[in-house]
Amino acid sequence: MNVLDRVRPALAGFEPYDPAFTPCRINLSANENTHELPEEFLAAVRAAMARVPLNRYPDPMSGELRGALAERHGVSPRHVCVGNGGDELLFNLLFAFGGPGHALVTCPPDFAEYANFAKMCETECVAVWRDPRTFSIDVDALVAAAREAALVIVTSPNNPTGDLVDPALVARLLDETDALVLVDEAYVEFAPSGSSMAGLVAQNPRLMVLRTLSKAFGMAGVRLGYLVADPAVVDMLGAIRQIYSVDVVAQAAALAAIRNRALLEPVVEDIVTERGLLAERLGAIDGVTVWPSEANFVLARVPGASVVRARLRDEHSILVRDFSYARGLEGCLRISVGTHDENQAVIRALSALVKEES
Ligand SMILES: *Cc1c(COP(=O)(O)O)cnc(C)c1O
Repeated sequence: MNVLDRVRPALAGFEPYDPAFTPCRINLSANENTHELPEEFLAAVRAAMARVPLNRYPDPMSGELRGALAERHGVSPRHVCVGNGGDELLFNLLFAFGGPGHALVTCPPDFAEYANFAKMCETECVAVWRDPRTFSIDVDALVAAAREAALVIVTSPNNPTGDLVDPALVARLLDETDALVLVDEAYVEFAPSGSSMAGLVAQNPRLMVLRTLSKAFGMAGVRLGYLVADPAVVDMLGAIRQIYSVDVVAQAAALAAIRNRALLEPVVEDIVTERGLLAERLGAIDGVTVWPSEANFVLARVPGASVVRARLRDEHSILVRDFSYARGLEGCLRISVGTHDENQAVIRALSALVKEES
């Protein structure tokens, strides 16, 4: 018997996720925060984790953390749903609001998980492709597609193109369609302050904002994301979720992180400064195109991208993300902004390799 013959047809062809991770001296491939976090912040998080009793089940809806997150965004706790990373919430949104006859609209190139989760949940994914040169969104085409959809996802800033979504676009989606609109703000802490749309959720029951502690907070390993959404959406997600997906240690760590978030501001500022330097230096290399980024990475089109990426890894022990095979991202590498030294190393190595390969 072939087990694969027994698999739900919608899941045919899915394989275990392999980030093609090679241990490297410098890993700038996953948009993690590679800065050393302030000792006071780390001490608070570690102390909170150490105090947690491990023998009791977690609070299913993460009440205390939910309260702190609600306060952060000026909404009621009923507007907040915590998840095992943003990824769990994305999957659960598709599980709850997708399915046959409930299309999802996305604007690729964007986060590949949207289309993956849609497929798993038997949800048609309608792609409104961005302009191949500027990566701007065709607003009229997006609004037209959204009129026929259950759910629209826009990513602000977008991964991997780095651009913010125009709030006027979100307003049009809410005014001119009946779709639920998710703004994925995984990277919004790196954008100018005031870029988040979380403050608009309370007035717009169909607007949802996704956040995560994986990027700016430097806690990708903790697996903590959350959604700011209408209480009806939150209750639906609360009803269908794996009740204990956010464990006691993650809840405690995240609560301490949120309470001490002011300590991370200098780290985020440094990443933003370094992003500017990295983009400028990479863009100055002959033949390399860099797009403006409001996130903690830059997207660069590089001659011989695949070979350059492999040689960065093998000869310099530097890992970056290869998108050169992906539709709309031909020849592109995504480089996370690291520490000053890491960025200098990747600039030096990439400059030399591009010269040799072009
Ligand atoms: C990283 C990321 C997320 C969420 O990541 P988690 O680690 O699951 O919280 C969501 N959306 C985008 C676009 C991302 O890049």
